[in-house]
Amino acid sequence: MSDIIKLLPDHVANQIAAGEVVQRPASVVKELLENAIDAQATQIKLLVKDAGRTLIQVIDDGKGMTTTDARLSFERHATSKISSAEDLFALHTKGFRGEALASIAAVAHVDLKTRPEGEDVGTQIEIEGSTIKSQEVCACLKGTSIAVKNLFFNIPARRNFLKSDSVELRHIIDEFQRVALAHEGITFMMYHNDGELFNLPKTNKRQRIVGVFGPKTNEKLVPVTEDTEIVKIEGFIVKPEFAKKTKGEQFFFVNDRFIKHPYLNHSVSAAFDGLLPDRARASYFLFLTVDPKTIDINIHPTKTEVKFEDEHAIYTLLRAAVKHSLGQFNIAPVLDFNR
Ligand code: ADP
Ligand code: MG
Repeated sequence: MSDIIKLLPDHVANQIAAGEVVQRPASVVKELLENAIDAQATQIKLLVKDAGRTLIQVIDDGKGMTTTDARLSFERHATSKISSAEDLFALHTKGFRGEALASIAAVAHVDLKTRPEGEDVGTQIEIEGSTIKSQEVCACLKGTSIAVKNLFFNIPARRNFLKSDSVELRHIIDEFQRVALAHEGITFMMYHNDGELFNLPKTNKRQRIVGVFGPKTNEKLVPVTEDTEIVKIEGFIVKPEFAKKTKGEQFFFVNDRFIKHPYLNHSVSAAFDGLLPDRARASYFLFLTVDPKTIDINIHPTKTEVKFEDEHAIYTLLRAAVKHSLGQFNIAPVLDFNR
Protein backbone atom coordinates (compact mmCIF):
# COMPACT_ATOMS: atom_id res chain seq x y z
CA MET A 1 0.00 0.00 0.00
CA SER A 2 1.28 3.51 -0.76
CA ASP A 3 1.50 6.40 1.70
CA ILE A 4 -1.60 8.53 1.84
CA ILE A 5 -0.98 11.16 4.52
CA LYS A 6 -0.04 14.66 3.34
CA LEU A 7 0.42 18.03 5.01
CA LEU A 8 -2.40 20.42 4.21
CA PRO A 9 -1.41 23.56 2.31
CA ASP A 10 -1.33 26.69 4.51
CA HIS A 11 -4.44 28.26 3.04
CA VAL A 12 -6.45 25.12 3.83
CA ALA A 13 -5.04 24.90 7.37
CA ASN A 14 -5.85 28.59 7.87
CA GLN A 15 -9.39 28.09 6.71
CA ILE A 16 -9.85 25.21 9.14
CA ALA A 17 -8.44 27.28 12.01
CA ALA A 18 -10.74 30.12 10.96
CA GLY A 19 -13.67 27.84 11.65
CA GLU A 20 -12.81 28.02 15.35
CA VAL A 21 -11.62 31.59 15.64
CA VAL A 22 -14.01 33.37 13.28
CA GLN A 23 -17.53 32.25 13.91
CA ARG A 24 -19.29 35.47 12.99
CA PRO A 25 -18.55 39.16 12.42
CA ALA A 26 -18.38 39.74 16.19
CA SER A 27 -15.43 37.34 16.45
CA VAL A 28 -13.47 39.53 14.02
CA VAL A 29 -14.37 42.61 16.05
CA LYS A 30 -13.08 40.98 19.24
CA GLU A 31 -9.78 39.90 17.69
CA LEU A 32 -9.09 43.27 16.04
CA LEU A 33 -9.95 45.26 19.16
CA GLU A 34 -7.73 43.02 21.27
CA ASN A 35 -4.82 43.45 18.86
CA ALA A 36 -5.23 47.23 19.07
CA ILE A 37 -5.12 47.04 22.87
CA ASP A 38 -2.04 44.82 22.81
CA ALA A 39 -0.43 47.44 20.55
CA GLN A 40 -0.93 49.95 23.40
CA ALA A 41 -3.36 52.14 21.52
CA THR A 42 -4.82 55.11 23.40
CA GLN A 43 -7.63 55.58 20.89
CA ILE A 44 -9.50 52.84 19.04
CA LYS A 45 -12.16 53.35 16.39
CA LEU A 46 -14.48 50.60 15.17
CA LEU A 47 -16.32 51.09 11.88
CA VAL A 48 -18.95 48.54 10.88
CA LYS A 49 -21.14 48.32 7.78
CA ASP A 50 -24.13 46.02 7.32
CA ALA A 51 -23.65 44.37 10.70
CA GLY A 52 -20.13 43.40 9.69
CA ARG A 53 -21.04 41.59 6.49
CA THR A 54 -19.43 44.13 4.20
CA LEU A 55 -16.99 45.95 6.50
CA ILE A 56 -15.36 45.66 9.90
CA GLN A 57 -12.56 48.15 10.35
CA VAL A 58 -10.49 48.89 13.43
CA ILE A 59 -8.22 51.93 13.46
CA ASP A 60 -5.76 52.36 16.31
CA ASP A 61 -3.00 54.77 17.25
CA GLY A 62 -0.85 51.99 18.71
CA LYS A 63 2.71 51.04 17.95
CA GLY A 64 2.17 49.91 14.36
CA MET A 65 4.22 47.33 12.48
CA THR A 66 7.34 47.31 10.35
CA THR A 67 6.97 46.06 6.79
CA THR A 68 8.38 42.64 7.68
CA ASP A 69 6.11 42.30 10.69
CA ALA A 70 3.10 43.42 8.68
CA ARG A 71 3.79 40.64 6.24
CA LEU A 72 4.41 38.07 9.00
CA SER A 73 1.33 39.04 10.98
CA PHE A 74 -0.83 37.04 8.54
CA GLU A 75 1.15 33.84 9.01
CA ARG A 76 -0.31 31.24 11.33
CA HIS A 77 1.40 30.90 14.75
CA ALA A 78 3.19 34.18 14.06
CA THR A 79 3.05 36.34 17.17
CA SER A 80 5.12 39.01 18.90
CA LYS A 81 3.46 38.22 22.23
CA ILE A 82 5.00 34.98 23.44
CA SER A 83 8.13 33.10 22.52
CA SER A 84 8.02 30.06 24.79
CA ALA A 85 5.47 27.82 26.48
CA GLU A 86 6.43 29.31 29.86
CA ASP A 87 5.18 32.69 28.65
CA LEU A 88 1.69 31.20 28.64
CA PHE A 89 1.75 31.40 32.42
CA ALA A 90 2.79 35.02 32.57
CA LEU A 91 0.47 36.54 29.99
CA HIS A 92 -0.02 40.27 29.93
CA THR A 93 -1.52 40.45 26.48
CA LYS A 94 -4.91 39.51 25.04
CA GLY A 95 -3.41 37.61 22.17
CA PHE A 96 -0.79 34.89 22.14
CA ARG A 97 -1.95 32.25 19.66
CA GLY A 98 -0.87 34.10 16.55
CA GLU A 99 -3.91 32.78 14.75
CA ALA A 100 -6.39 35.59 14.42
CA LEU A 101 -5.06 37.54 11.46
CA ALA A 102 -4.18 34.37 9.53
CA SER A 103 -7.68 33.03 10.17
CA ILE A 104 -9.43 36.27 9.27
CA ALA A 105 -7.39 36.68 6.09
CA ALA A 106 -8.33 33.12 5.08
CA VAL A 107 -12.03 33.96 4.99
CA ALA A 108 -12.22 37.62 3.96
CA HIS A 109 -10.64 40.46 2.01
CA VAL A 110 -8.27 42.29 4.32
CA ASP A 111 -6.71 45.70 3.83
CA LEU A 112 -3.96 46.50 6.34
CA LYS A 113 -2.32 49.89 6.73
CA THR A 114 0.30 50.33 9.39
CA ARG A 115 3.12 52.65 10.36
CA PRO A 116 5.36 52.48 13.42
CA GLU A 117 6.54 55.60 15.19
CA GLY A 118 9.74 57.03 13.76
CA GLU A 119 9.09 55.84 10.18
CA ASP A 120 8.12 58.34 7.49
CA VAL A 121 6.03 55.91 5.53
CA GLY A 122 4.04 52.85 6.32
CA THR A 123 2.99 49.61 4.68
CA GLN A 124 -0.24 48.70 2.98
CA ILE A 125 -1.06 45.06 2.31
CA GLU A 126 -4.13 43.66 0.60
CA ILE A 127 -4.86 40.00 1.09
CA GLU A 128 -7.77 37.87 -0.07
CA GLY A 129 -8.37 34.36 1.21
CA SER A 130 -4.73 33.95 2.35
CA THR A 131 -3.37 35.27 -0.98
CA ILE A 132 -1.42 38.53 -0.93
CA LYS A 133 -2.83 40.75 -3.68
CA SER A 134 -0.66 43.79 -3.21
CA GLN A 135 1.96 45.33 -0.97
CA GLU A 136 2.81 49.00 -1.20
CA VAL A 137 4.39 51.84 0.66
CA CYS A 138 1.75 54.17 2.04
CA ALA A 139 1.51 57.54 3.70
CA CYS A 140 -0.51 56.36 6.66
CA LEU A 141 -1.07 57.60 10.18
CA LYS A 142 0.98 56.17 13.02
CA GLY A 143 -0.70 52.99 14.22
CA THR A 144 -2.69 50.38 12.40
CA SER A 145 -5.89 50.19 10.40
CA ILE A 146 -7.28 46.79 9.47
CA ALA A 147 -10.33 46.66 7.23
CA VAL A 148 -12.03 43.29 6.87
CA LYS A 149 -14.38 43.18 3.89
CA ASN A 150 -16.77 40.58 2.53
CA LEU A 151 -16.43 38.18 5.44
CA PHE A 152 -16.89 34.51 4.47
CA PHE A 153 -16.80 35.42 0.75
CA ASN A 154 -15.33 31.95 0.12
CA ILE A 155 -17.46 29.99 2.62
CA PRO A 156 -21.09 30.27 1.50
CA ALA A 157 -22.24 27.93 4.28
CA ARG A 158 -20.93 30.29 6.98
CA ARG A 159 -22.29 33.33 5.20
CA ASN A 160 -25.71 31.79 4.89
CA PHE A 161 -25.75 30.79 8.53
CA LEU A 162 -25.33 34.36 9.71
CA LYS A 163 -28.38 35.66 11.54
CA SER A 164 -30.29 38.86 10.79
CA ASP A 165 -28.42 42.17 10.79
CA SER A 166 -29.92 43.09 14.15
CA VAL A 167 -28.71 39.84 15.76
CA GLU A 168 -25.21 40.09 14.27
CA LEU A 169 -24.96 43.75 15.23
CA ARG A 170 -26.05 42.86 18.78
CA HIS A 171 -23.15 40.36 19.01
CA ILE A 172 -20.75 43.01 17.72
CA ILE A 173 -21.97 45.56 20.24
CA ASP A 174 -21.61 42.95 23.02
CA GLU A 175 -17.96 42.39 22.11
CA PHE A 176 -17.32 46.11 21.80
CA GLN A 177 -18.88 46.78 25.20
CA ARG A 178 -16.92 44.01 26.90
CA VAL A 179 -13.63 45.34 25.60
CA ALA A 180 -14.56 48.97 26.35
CA LEU A 181 -15.60 48.08 29.92
CA ALA A 182 -12.29 46.35 30.60
CA HIS A 183 -10.21 49.26 29.26
CA GLU A 184 -11.57 52.50 30.63
CA GLY A 185 -8.19 54.17 30.10
CA ILE A 186 -8.58 53.92 26.31
CA THR A 187 -10.87 56.10 24.17
CA PHE A 188 -13.28 54.00 22.08
CA MET A 189 -15.58 54.99 19.26
CA MET A 190 -17.98 52.84 17.30
CA TYR A 191 -19.90 53.61 14.12
CA HIS A 192 -22.45 51.51 12.26
CA ASN A 193 -23.29 52.47 8.67
CA ASP A 194 -21.76 55.90 9.40
CA GLY A 195 -23.97 56.54 12.44
CA GLU A 196 -22.16 56.96 15.76
CA LEU A 197 -23.17 54.32 18.32
CA PHE A 198 -20.58 54.98 21.03
CA ASN A 199 -18.11 57.70 21.86
CA LEU A 200 -16.34 56.79 25.07
CA PRO A 201 -13.54 59.09 26.23
CA LYS A 202 -10.84 57.82 28.57
CA THR A 203 -12.23 57.79 32.11
CA ASN A 204 -12.59 55.73 35.32
CA LYS A 205 -14.39 52.38 35.68
CA ARG A 206 -17.63 53.81 37.02
CA GLN A 207 -17.96 56.44 34.31
CA ARG A 208 -17.08 53.89 31.63
CA ILE A 209 -19.99 51.69 32.76
CA VAL A 210 -22.21 54.78 32.69
CA GLY A 211 -20.87 55.68 29.23
CA VAL A 212 -21.71 52.22 27.93
CA PHE A 213 -25.10 51.71 29.58
CA GLY A 214 -26.41 55.26 29.86
CA PRO A 215 -26.59 58.06 32.47
CA LYS A 216 -29.34 56.37 34.51
CA THR A 217 -26.89 53.61 35.43
CA ASN A 218 -24.89 55.81 37.79
CA GLU A 219 -27.32 55.82 40.72
CA LYS A 220 -27.80 52.06 40.45
CA LEU A 221 -24.19 51.11 41.11
CA VAL A 222 -22.73 50.02 44.42
CA PRO A 223 -18.94 49.55 44.59
CA VAL A 224 -17.32 46.24 45.53
CA THR A 225 -13.70 46.02 46.63
CA GLU A 226 -11.61 43.30 48.17
CA ASP A 227 -7.90 42.67 48.09
CA THR A 228 -6.44 39.34 49.14
CA GLU A 229 -3.39 37.25 48.35
CA ILE A 230 -5.37 35.14 45.90
CA VAL A 231 -7.47 37.73 44.13
CA LYS A 232 -8.16 41.44 43.94
CA ILE A 233 -11.82 42.21 43.35
CA GLU A 234 -13.08 45.58 42.12
CA GLY A 235 -16.19 46.74 40.41
CA PHE A 236 -19.85 47.36 40.95
CA ILE A 237 -23.07 45.55 41.62
CA VAL A 238 -26.43 46.93 40.61
CA LYS A 239 -28.72 47.61 43.58
CA PRO A 240 -31.32 44.84 43.90
CA GLU A 241 -34.20 47.31 43.45
CA PHE A 242 -33.02 47.81 39.86
CA ALA A 243 -32.62 44.11 39.10
CA LYS A 244 -34.23 43.11 35.85
CA LYS A 245 -36.75 40.35 35.36
CA THR A 246 -34.91 39.51 32.20
CA LYS A 247 -31.34 38.35 32.25
CA GLY A 248 -29.79 41.66 33.29
CA GLU A 249 -26.11 42.43 32.89
CA GLN A 250 -23.54 40.02 34.27
CA PHE A 251 -19.95 40.92 33.56
CA PHE A 252 -16.87 39.17 34.86
CA PHE A 253 -13.40 40.19 33.85
CA VAL A 254 -10.19 38.46 34.81
CA ASN A 255 -7.03 40.46 34.27
CA ASP A 256 -9.00 42.79 31.97
CA ARG A 257 -10.39 39.96 29.88
CA PHE A 258 -14.14 39.30 29.71
CA ILE A 259 -14.92 35.75 30.78
CA LYS A 260 -17.93 33.49 31.14
CA HIS A 261 -17.93 31.58 34.37
CA PRO A 262 -21.17 29.98 35.61
CA TYR A 263 -19.60 28.97 38.92
CA LEU A 264 -18.67 32.56 39.73
CA ASN A 265 -22.08 33.76 38.54
CA HIS A 266 -23.48 31.45 41.15
CA SER A 267 -21.28 32.95 43.82
CA VAL A 268 -22.69 36.43 43.20
CA SER A 269 -26.26 35.11 42.99
CA ALA A 270 -25.67 33.43 46.35
CA ALA A 271 -24.65 36.77 47.86
CA PHE A 272 -27.88 38.33 46.54
CA ASP A 273 -29.96 35.49 47.93
CA GLY A 274 -33.23 36.75 49.37
CA LEU A 275 -32.70 40.29 48.11
CA LEU A 276 -34.14 39.90 44.66
CA PRO A 277 -37.73 39.52 43.57
CA ASP A 278 -38.65 36.20 42.05
CA ARG A 279 -36.97 35.39 38.74
CA ALA A 280 -34.96 38.61 38.73
CA ARG A 281 -31.22 38.26 38.22
CA ALA A 282 -28.50 40.31 39.80
CA SER A 283 -26.54 42.63 37.50
CA TYR A 284 -22.88 43.29 38.08
CA PHE A 285 -19.58 44.41 36.63
CA LEU A 286 -16.80 42.65 38.50
CA PHE A 287 -13.12 42.87 37.71
CA LEU A 288 -10.85 40.22 39.19
CA THR A 289 -7.10 40.47 39.15
CA VAL A 290 -5.06 37.35 39.78
CA ASP A 291 -1.50 36.28 39.23
CA PRO A 292 -1.38 35.08 35.59
CA LYS A 293 0.35 31.94 36.88
CA THR A 294 -2.84 30.89 38.64
CA ILE A 295 -5.11 30.85 35.59
CA ASP A 296 -5.30 28.95 32.35
CA ILE A 297 -6.91 30.86 29.50
CA ASN A 298 -5.75 28.53 26.79
CA ILE A 299 -8.78 26.28 26.99
CA HIS A 300 -10.62 27.58 23.95
CA PRO A 301 -9.55 29.70 20.95
CA THR A 302 -11.91 32.53 21.87
CA LYS A 303 -10.46 32.64 25.40
CA THR A 304 -13.74 33.39 27.16
CA GLU A 305 -13.29 30.34 29.36
CA VAL A 306 -10.76 30.49 32.12
CA LYS A 307 -9.65 27.94 34.69
CA PHE A 308 -8.60 29.21 38.08
CA GLU A 309 -6.15 27.33 40.25
CA ASP A 310 -8.21 27.93 43.36
CA GLU A 311 -11.74 28.29 42.12
CA HIS A 312 -13.35 27.51 45.43
CA ALA A 313 -11.43 30.19 47.33
CA ILE A 314 -12.35 32.76 44.69
CA TYR A 315 -15.99 31.71 44.91
CA THR A 316 -15.99 32.26 48.67
CA LEU A 317 -14.11 35.55 48.58
CA LEU A 318 -16.34 36.91 45.85
CA ARG A 319 -19.53 35.99 47.66
CA ALA A 320 -18.23 37.61 50.84
CA ALA A 321 -17.16 40.79 49.03
CA VAL A 322 -20.55 41.20 47.36
CA LYS A 323 -22.39 40.47 50.61
CA HIS A 324 -20.25 43.03 52.37
CA SER A 325 -21.11 45.71 49.80
CA LEU A 326 -24.79 44.92 49.99
CA GLY A 327 -24.62 45.18 53.78
CA GLN A 328 -22.57 48.35 53.80
CA PHE A 329 -25.04 50.15 51.61
CA ASN A 330 -27.89 49.03 53.79
CA ILE A 331 -29.67 47.12 51.14
CA ALA A 332 -32.71 45.49 52.66
CA PRO A 333 -34.60 42.53 51.20
CA VAL A 334 -37.24 43.36 48.61
CA LEU A 335 -40.62 42.16 49.79
CA ASP A 336 -42.12 39.93 47.22
CA PHE A 337 -45.49 38.49 48.07
CA ASN A 338 -45.46 36.16 45.08
CA ARG A 339 -42.68 34.04 46.55
P1 ADP B 1 -1.78 37.33 18.38
O1 ADP B 1 -2.58 38.53 18.76
O2 ADP B 1 -2.24 36.10 19.07
O3 ADP B 1 -0.30 37.56 18.49
P2 ADP B 1 -2.76 37.89 15.70
O4 ADP B 1 -2.92 37.03 14.51
O5 ADP B 1 -3.97 38.55 16.25
O6 ADP B 1 -2.05 37.02 16.82
O7 ADP B 1 -1.69 39.02 15.36
C1 ADP B 1 -0.40 38.63 14.92
C2 ADP B 1 0.64 39.70 15.25
O8 ADP B 1 0.42 40.85 14.45
C3 ADP B 1 0.61 40.20 16.67
O9 ADP B 1 1.37 39.37 17.55
C4 ADP B 1 1.19 41.61 16.54
O10 ADP B 1 2.59 41.57 16.58
C5 ADP B 1 0.76 42.02 15.14
N1 ADP B 1 -0.44 42.90 15.18
C6 ADP B 1 -1.72 42.53 14.94
N2 ADP B 1 -2.56 43.58 15.05
C7 ADP B 1 -1.79 44.65 15.37
C8 ADP B 1 -2.07 46.05 15.63
N3 ADP B 1 -3.31 46.54 15.58
N4 ADP B 1 -1.01 46.85 15.92
C9 ADP B 1 0.26 46.37 15.96
N5 ADP B 1 0.58 45.07 15.73
C10 ADP B 1 -0.43 44.22 15.44
MG1 MG C 1 -4.55 38.83 18.29
